[in-house]
Amino acid sequence: MSSMLNNVVKIYRRGIELNNYPKEFEELIIKPQRVLITHLPIKTSKGLKIFEAYRVQHNNFLGPYKGGIRFYENVTLEDDIALAMIMTLKNSLANLPYGGAKGAIKVNPKELNSEELEKLSREYVRAIRLIIGNEIDIPAPDLGTNSQIMAWMVDELSKIEGYNTFAAFTSKPMDLFGNPIREYSTGYGVAFISKLISEKLLDGIENKAISIHGFGNVGKWAAYWLERFGAKIVSISDSSGTIYDENGLKINEIIKIKEKCGKIIEYKNAKKIEDTNFSLYVNCDILIPASIENIITDKNFNRINAKIIVEGANNPTQQEAELELSKKGITIVPDILANSGGVIASYLEWIQNISWYIWDEEKNKKELEKILKNSFENVYKKFEEENLNNLREAAISIAMERLYKSAKIRGYI
Ligand code: NAD
Repeated sequence: MSSMLNNVVKIYRRGIELNNYPKEFEELIIKPQRVLITHLPIKTSKGLKIFEAYRVQHNNFLGPYKGGIRFYENVTLEDDIALAMIMTLKNSLANLPYGGAKGAIKVNPKELNSEELEKLSREYVRAIRLIIGNEIDIPAPDLGTNSQIMAWMVDELSKIEGYNTFAAFTSKPMDLFGNPIREYSTGYGVAFISKLISEKLLDGIENKAISIHGFGNVGKWAAYWLERFGAKIVSISDSSGTIYDENGLKINEIIKIKEKCGKIIEYKNAKKIEDTNFSLYVNCDILIPASIENIITDKNFNRINAKIIVEGANNPTQQEAELELSKKGITIVPDILANSGGVIASYLEWIQNISWYIWDEEKNKKELEKILKNSFENVYKKFEEENLNNLREAAISIAMERLYKSAKIRGYI
């Protein structure tokens, strides 16, 4: 089993154990309901290429499947299953009417030109069209995909179905009924949750020192909004290295540099460090891992110097490391809560699309905040009242409860 799937299965088992649910529920909830494996033939400038692709529909007890599609050459089916399982928990925790799914194509998108990418996106839709749709399974972008790819995909499905299926994909461009907050919603959610946890544990977010690992969509927007909330971003790492300034980095300038050169290390007005993991170990109030999975492990947890960790990435902390960090008094806000802003904004896009209604940016932001605050308060209350080991236990216990009730009332157990 891949280490990501192993970690996610452990999280599920822990949730089931915490709630004292029977073994038969574990068997029911851990297995994905449907896995589609396909091979997509694409004529490229270098000849015919065949790309392996998946759509994993893990569970739909709570509503249509929902989850992103990644274009990533190192993706494995097991990792895709693990990511779909995380979506089931994330959607349940946020009280969204969705199950969990994830899709992937084994491809390095940088090796294809725009025409080839379009062909591949459309071919993928033709391969999975029977199992997706407005009320069945609603994909969105993930690693290596973006709103342009969603536009090609929604157009392809619309042609097949004979009507505009805008609600079948989210995170679309604004001209195809996208959501004005979707681009920054995950990072905004990470910043907003960091603010809420700081109000509980640190007297607010103002002037708090933040360190961020990863400066892509999530890390960049988390930094941008945290700076606007009055926090001080002292350290940022990406794959090019780390920049550090104890007085606070200037986020707008770093965003411009990253857009121009693709690397934060080109930024001139800060201390530069080659080590791409330096931000993980900086002395700070809040550490935000926002790069890739399994970045905090049993090998490096004892070098962490933060009071709070807010998980921007999916599955950045291994379970063993989390238990040790909890013992040291470090609070971890789990991924299924901290980075749920993206899927919540997708949900808002979907409900507007199915009702042909359009909200402005402020209305979308307010609704996002309302759902995030509600999730956060529920998790924190459960953590305090039931004396649990950490916030993840509270989050998975709440998520599992909705799934269990649905399974029970449907008569499965
Ligand atoms: P991205 O590809 O836009 O950015 C990833 C960033 O991490 C880049 O800056 C890259 O340089 C950096 N990085 C990668 N490996 C690194 C390493 N070893 N050391 C230092 N930096 C490294 O990805 P993203 O969309 O920002 O997603 C980041 C994480 O958040 C992923 O785990 C993703 O699944 C998760 N996530 C993303 C969204 C979303 O809406 N984008 C939503 C929920 C969860």
